[in-house]
Amino acid sequence: MEEDLDCPLCMEEMDITDRHLKPCHCGYQICVWCWHQVMENAAKENTEGRCPACRTPYDKDKVVGTRLSCSELEFTASKRKSHKAKSKTQEGRKHLSNVRVVQRNLVYIVGFPVNFADEEMLERRDFFGQYGKILKVAVSRQHSHNGPTASVYVTFVRDDDAVKCINAIDGCIFEGKLLRACFGTNKYCNSWLKNLPCNNPDCLYLHDEGPDEDSYTKEEMIAKYGKYVSILTIFRLH
Ligand SMILES: [Zn+2]
Ligand SMILES: [Zn+2]
Ligand SMILES: [Zn+2]
Repeated sequence: MEEDLDCPLCMEEMDITDRHLKPCHCGYQICVWCWHQVMENAAKENTEGRCPACRTPYDKDKVVGTRLSCSELEFTASKRKSHKAKSKTQEGRKHLSNVRVVQRNLVYIVGFPVNFADEEMLERRDFFGQYGKILKVAVSRQHSHNGPTASVYVTFVRDDDAVKCINAIDGCIFEGKLLRACFGTNKYCNSWLKNLPCNNPDCLYLHDEGPDEDSYTKEEMIAKYGKYVSILTIFRLH
């Protein structure tokens, strides 16, 4: 069974079509919808859409490794887009389902060596535990042309400890791998979005509306940053 894979730009789970989209030789994958946004924004400005990870221009005609042609991709993307746009007009908190909030006690680390990607070990005081009390460590593994690496999400009790951790980790070399660290983003709890009580005591999704300055829709994220920087660089401290 394949592991769940989230699009690094919009944090949505990648479906089959998304997984088949291999837009760049560097191995960095984004979902069809985000790929379409990158290309569309670039076209508007008469520039080339580029891979958010390695900045190589995307070649529309040679999307690496997809079984679908580009016109099919665009069709899928526009279909999904109108589907997502519609949900905005629905009642209640529904409009927030598309919103991501920067979570200032959550550290997101990429490029982690996979043989060290063990939740229990990383929580210990000789690893991320040294920066402060940890609520949760989560790990997801990816395959890139550099071989397997992992992304690590560390949720601290205190925001200050997350800042300490980012300052210490970002840009350092660990076991020969360059680590990148920044604040993570979170989304709203599904029950909360439906105005229902959340019955999961371990639920780490948001149950309060986040501050405006930390809230972004996926469209805003990509319109603002998609062309030039990856999400990893957006919330980096330095
Ligand atoms: Zn995406
Ligand atoms: Zn690339
Ligand atoms: Zn919840």
